[in-house]
Amino acid sequence: MDELPSLVADVNARIREIAERSAERASDWEFMCECGCGERVRFGLEEYEGLLAKGLPVVVAGHRPSATARARALQEDAAALRAQAGHQVGRALKGRKPRT
Ligand SMILES: [Zn+2]
Repeated sequence: MDELPSLVADVNARIREIAERSAERASDWEFMCECGCGERVRFGLEEYEGLLAKGLPVVVAGHRPSATARARALQEDAAALRAQAGHQVGRALKGRKPRT
């Protein structure tokens, strides 16, 4: 069941899309707890987006996301760092004069 946490995150992303287009976008919506327990958690869209912006998991109070979800977040951080590092290297290389 390793795919479950990312599957739940996908479901939550869909709920957000639907919520944003809904006339009731200002009300609370039922998102799925990303720890994989299958419980629902009520958030307003702003709260949900606030959690995403901070990189926090969407979970029922007190629940912890699974190791898979945490690993995924770490991988995303690592990818961002690698991209940043590549950029720095590219800049450094451009500054170097070609040997003659
Ligand atoms: Zn949970």
